[in-house]
Amino acid sequence: MAPVIRPVQTALDPPAQTSVVVIGGGIVGLSTALTLAERGISVVVLEKGHLAGEQSSRNLGWVRKTGRHIADLPLSVESDRLWAEMPERVGADVGYRKAGIMYVARSEAEMAKHETWIGSDGGRALDSRLLSADEIDRQVPGGAERWFGGIHTPSDGRAEPTLASSAIAAAAIAKGAVIVEQCAVRRLVTSAGRVSGVMTERGEIRCEHVLLAGGIWSRRFLGNHGVDLPTLPLVASVLRTAAMEGPTETAVGAADFSFRKRLDGGYTITQRGALFAPLMLDHLLIGHRYLPVLKAEWKNVRLAFGRDFLRDLSMSRRWKGDARSPMEHVRTMDPPVNDGLNAEAMTNLCRAWPVFKQAEIRQSWAGMIDVTPDSNPVISPVAKLPGLTLASGFSGHGFGTAPAAGQLAADLITGDTPIVDPKPYRLDRL
Ligand SMILES: Cc1cc2nc3c(=O)[nH]c(=O)nc-3n(C[C@H](O)[C@H](O)[C@H](O)COP(=O)(O)OP(=O)(O)OC[C@H]3O[C@@H](n4cnc5c(N)ncnc54)[C@H](O)[C@@H]3O)c2cc1C
Repeated sequence: MAPVIRPVQTALDPPAQTSVVVIGGGIVGLSTALTLAERGISVVVLEKGHLAGEQSSRNLGWVRKTGRHIADLPLSVESDRLWAEMPERVGADVGYRKAGIMYVARSEAEMAKHETWIGSDGGRALDSRLLSADEIDRQVPGGAERWFGGIHTPSDGRAEPTLASSAIAAAAIAKGAVIVEQCAVRRLVTSAGRVSGVMTERGEIRCEHVLLAGGIWSRRFLGNHGVDLPTLPLVASVLRTAAMEGPTETAVGAADFSFRKRLDGGYTITQRGALFAPLMLDHLLIGHRYLPVLKAEWKNVRLAFGRDFLRDLSMSRRWKGDARSPMEHVRTMDPPVNDGLNAEAMTNLCRAWPVFKQAEIRQSWAGMIDVTPDSNPVISPVAKLPGLTLASGFSGHGFGTAPAAGQLAADLITGDTPIVDPKPYRLDRL
């Protein structure tokens, strides 16, 4: 069963007109809406299912800089600042804790990756440092494995996915944003060569700008307008434990498991080293563009041919505004949990920190991630469709950067000085 976010009172009906329409009520779309509303700009968020129903409620809650691509670091650093300011900004505790992130390595080869990163401009700019096996034992007591070493970034942290999006949404509404659930956007409306509105399942909304923050759906949505956004779907499965005495507040990742402390006292656990790819047409069409990143990062992707292939094929790739769109067929993408991967995560974790043998598993779920060929998101105007800005392809690490990503998207829309250099996020780089 998927996590349920804290409820938010949203609007029943969309207005006929606004300045900005945001497509997608995930954390990125909501963060953009909050920023725009704070600037006094009228904004409407349209969500086909329920708020944060897809990736934004299902993620692990890591707020991470460690190991990031150098080009993506400024956004992460700005996000840390915005997470720290969040309680005051939204008037709620969203579970942000600067409790650090640690990766532990079993072999020299695994450790070499951390050494390379810490020696890079990115690693040098942060408070990250390499750890010896003894230091790991001291910082995360009760371990039963002898690690080769590790890396630790004390300024990394975590936040609660089930609290963050709803608090951001509620704050945006309080500042004037309108948020409507169960309202899919079918397509863009254009006039005089630029975007002038959206056609939703409940009629047209006129606007000056549109932000597409549709997660895994952005590729299909844009494809219908003749724009190619290369993202591939990957599925990660997750477990949640009941409250328990654990070894540390720091989030810890090894090659084949990860765990992080939750605000409710439990732990969120996953098989960090393996992702599941339900084979779809896009894997065949654009999969070759991922070979370099597969080699470097996503080594353990388990591809499987099954029902998803046929379901995906049965969904239109071209449709008009007066017909039901694929977004109305799948209100919430809720992929099946891979119990095998979750069991592997628990076995590996219990071997490393036996205290987890006492863990009571309370919940499991899966989420589908939108991955770009270079693992960085696209936060960019779309040249072919003036008036449209895109914020998608967060590649499994967009929860942590969402506050700054949302602000960057808002800056691009309003023409304000961008919070960070937007160049690394341009669509045309792909
Ligand atoms: C299992 C898992 C673990 C993860 N762990 C982490 C982590 O620890 N740290 C981290 O930083 N990131 C993590 N991520 C990634 C992170 O969750 C995402 O990058 C982030 O939530 C993306 O937010 P989003 O708003 O772009 O997308 P989403 O949350 O997917 O939201 C997009 C929304 O758009 C809606 N939508 C799409 N098309 C339309 C349309 N046409 N009309 C109306 N609505 C539409 C969808 O219904 C959806 O709700 C993880 C992801 C998963 C699945």
